[in-house]
Amino acid sequence: MKKYDFIIAGGGMAGLSLAYYLTQSPLRDRSILIIDREQKDRNDRTWCFWERDPGPFESILFRTWKTVCFHGTTYTGPVDMGDYTYKMLRGIDFYEFVQNELAKHPTIEFKQAIINRIKETPQGGFLIADDEPFIADYIFDSTFALKLNQPENHNLLQHFKGWVITAEKPCFNPEKPQIMDFRIEQHGDCRFVYVLPFDEKTALVEFTLFNEKLLEKSEYDDQLRQYIDRFLDTGTYQIADTEYGVIPMSDELTQEYPSEHIVRIGTSGGYTKASTGYTFQRTQRYLSAIVKNLVETGKPIRPESWFRRRFKVYDSVFLNVLENNRHPADDIFTRVYTGNPRRVFTFLDEDTHVLDELRLFATMPFWPFLTAFFAVIRRKIAG
Ligand SMILES: Cc1cc2nc3c(=O)[nH]c(=O)nc-3n(C[C@H](O)[C@H](O)[C@H](O)COP(=O)(O)OP(=O)(O)OC[C@H]3O[C@@H](n4cnc5c(N)ncnc54)[C@H](O)[C@@H]3O)c2cc1C
Repeated sequence: MKKYDFIIAGGGMAGLSLAYYLTQSPLRDRSILIIDREQKDRNDRTWCFWERDPGPFESILFRTWKTVCFHGTTYTGPVDMGDYTYKMLRGIDFYEFVQNELAKHPTIEFKQAIINRIKETPQGGFLIADDEPFIADYIFDSTFALKLNQPENHNLLQHFKGWVITAEKPCFNPEKPQIMDFRIEQHGDCRFVYVLPFDEKTALVEFTLFNEKLLEKSEYDDQLRQYIDRFLDTGTYQIADTEYGVIPMSDELTQEYPSEHIVRIGTSGGYTKASTGYTFQRTQRYLSAIVKNLVETGKPIRPESWFRRRFKVYDSVFLNVLENNRHPADDIFTRVYTGNPRRVFTFLDEDTHVLDELRLFATMPFWPFLTAFFAVIRRKIAG
C-alpha cells in the first residue's frame, strides 16, 4: 500500500484550504491524497467574513464592502468598520480556484469516495474509503461529526435559510449590505435577517436564528417571504438560488489532535467560533499556522497561548445569556454595534487586548452577563 505524506479527509472549505496552503509552502511537492464523497462542483454555500488586508482568495471574491449596516432596537444605520473590509466568497468560486491550483501539482491526487473509518496505527494515520485502505504520515480530518451532547456545555445552533432574489424594481443599495436586521418577531430566540446586495435588483436575503432546535422547512420560507413583503420594495421577485445551513454554536471542547497522526480541522476541529458561528476566516488563520509549524518543525501543531483561552470563556458567557434568555438578544447586539464600532470586529477575531475587552463588556447589560459568568463557572466545575 502506498504511503502518502498527507491524506486530507474531506475536500471542503478546510480540506481544500489546507491543500492550498501546502502548495504555497516548501512542502508543495509532498504526496497528498484528498478524499471527498462529493465533487464539490456546486455553489453549496457562500462565505462572508471581514479582513483588513488582501487575503489569499482576494482575486475570487464575489463582492466586497467598506461599510455594513445594522438595524437594531435603538439604532439603524451604518457601522464603522475602520480598516476592515466585509468580503463575500461563493463556494463554487473557491472550489474551482483551489482545484485548478492543486491540479498543477502532480503529487496531489483526488479521490471521490465515502470515508468509512479513520484510525491511528503505529505506522501512521489509517483510513478506509469505499472499502479501500490508505495510510499517511498525517491525516487531516474534516469529516468527523461533532457529538455536542455534554450537559455542562452550551449547545446552540445557528440555522438559516437564504434566497438570492431578483427583484422587479431596483430596491437595493449595492454599497450597503445589511448584516443584521432585528425588525422581526424574536419568539424568545435571537432572530434576524441579513440582506447582501449584489446589485440594485439582486440580493441574498437570509433569515437566521440562534436557538436549540431547528424549524420546519416551511417556516424559514414563511419568514423570508414576510420580511421581503414588509421591508423590501421589490415589486415581484424571482428566487434565483437558495442556501440552507446549520452551524454549531457550542463551547464543548473538541479534540483537535485525537492522536499522533490524526489532526481534525475545520468545523470538526472546533474552528467555529462558538458565539458567532464564523468559521471561514479562523480556518484560514489556523491552517496557515499549522502549515508554518509543519514547515519549521515537521509537526502539524497549531501553537496557542493559554491566555487566548479567555475568549472561550467570553463565548460561553454569551451562549449562557442566550440559552437562558437573560437579556433580549436584539438589545445585546444593538449595544455591541453602537458601543463598539471597529472594536467589535477585532474582538470577534480575538485580536483585542484586555483593556479593549473590558471597554466592550462595559457596554453590555451588567447583571445578565455577571449571572451568566457565574453560571458558566458552576457548570464547568459540576461537569
Ligand atoms: C450554508 C452555509 C453557509 C455558511 N456561511 C458561513 C459564512 O458566511 N462565514 C463563515 O465564517 N462560516 C460560514 N459557514 C460555516 C463554515 O464556514 C462552513 O460550514 C465550512 O464549509 C466548514 O468547513 P469544513 O471544511 O469544516 O466543512 P465542509 O466545508 O462541509 O467540508 C467537509 C467535507 O467533508 C466531506 N465529507 C463529510 N463526511 C464525509 C465522508 N464520510 N466521506 C467523504 N467525505 C465526507 C463533505 O462532503 C465536505 O466536502 C457556513 C456554513 C454553511 C453550511
